[in-house]
Amino acid sequence: MKHYFFVKTLAVMLTLSMLFAMLSGCAGAASKADDGKISIVATIFPQYDFARRIAGDRADIKMLLKPGMEAHSYEPSPKDIIGIAKCDLFLNVGGESESWLDSVLESADNPGMKVVSAMDCVEVIEEETAEGMQSREHHHEHEHESDSDLHHGEEEEEEYDEHVWTSPMNAIAIVNAINTALCELDPDNAEYYCNNTNEYVAELLELDHSFREVIAGSERNLLIFGDRFPLLYFVREYGLDYCAAFPGCAAETEPSAATVAFLIDRVKGEKVPVVLYIELSNHKVADAIAEAAGTKTAQFNTCHNISAKDFAAGESYLSLMRANVDILREALN
Ligand SMILES: [Zn+2]
Repeated sequence: MKHYFFVKTLAVMLTLSMLFAMLSGCAGAASKADDGKISIVATIFPQYDFARRIAGDRADIKMLLKPGMEAHSYEPSPKDIIGIAKCDLFLNVGGESESWLDSVLESADNPGMKVVSAMDCVEVIEEETAEGMQSREHHHEHEHESDSDLHHGEEEEEEYDEHVWTSPMNAIAIVNAINTALCELDPDNAEYYCNNTNEYVAELLELDHSFREVIAGSERNLLIFGDRFPLLYFVREYGLDYCAAFPGCAAETEPSAATVAFLIDRVKGEKVPVVLYIELSNHKVADAIAEAAGTKTAQFNTCHNISAKDFAAGESYLSLMRANVDILREALN
């Protein structure tokens, strides 16, 4: 699936040479920040949240994608690029959405930096276009309009879905990898990190158990998303079926009449009680489907990003996912 990111790669590369010329005047990257703490930079919310659970206040942790921002329109600022180049531990997803990172990491003269890519921690799944979903053909035409002048040549390759954290079991694998990297970087605090990790993993296992319990006792097996669908890992983990308007990282927001009609038919035909939408969505498509089918809507949290309000209120991957347990119970019964 294509993303918004290609258009940015060129701009990022152009600013890099200037930035690193500035940086190279400084001494080589220090292993710890000025305050003696390990510095961690995460591209998006899930890994940021995992890192803060493991490291607590013993590390400086930054998230590049600001709360409330659309995950697929992120552009690194010069400050972000310098932050990445100087950090001790860099946490990314590792997918195509972050292809702008390749040039940043290559140019960063920081041999001590550790990188944990979420997609390297789990078994990845190929992206898929589900029945009724806005078709790929349409998708590609749409994108060529904006990135036709960039001459990147690998567009038709199989691509893996990036939203690996949506399965709590994958979250555990990512958490363990972050813990391992932190313990190697900062052995003095290893016991603290490991204790936090063990506690957190136990909570994630409890969450996984709650999902399994709800699904085992539910009437149906189908989720309908009148929205993008970045939850492939979630439904595969729990053996659920789904229909959605768009794939996970789709750029479109206007589904075809055929897609909407298909989703309305499924909701009516299977008497699906709730049409779902994801965080930071305008939920217009879900509203339209629910209205036509005479049912209601609810938000299912993917944790791709978090709203500014939820972030300020201290919501976490765990709290947002726990809210999904109740939504799931409602949507499946
Ligand atoms: Zn995405």
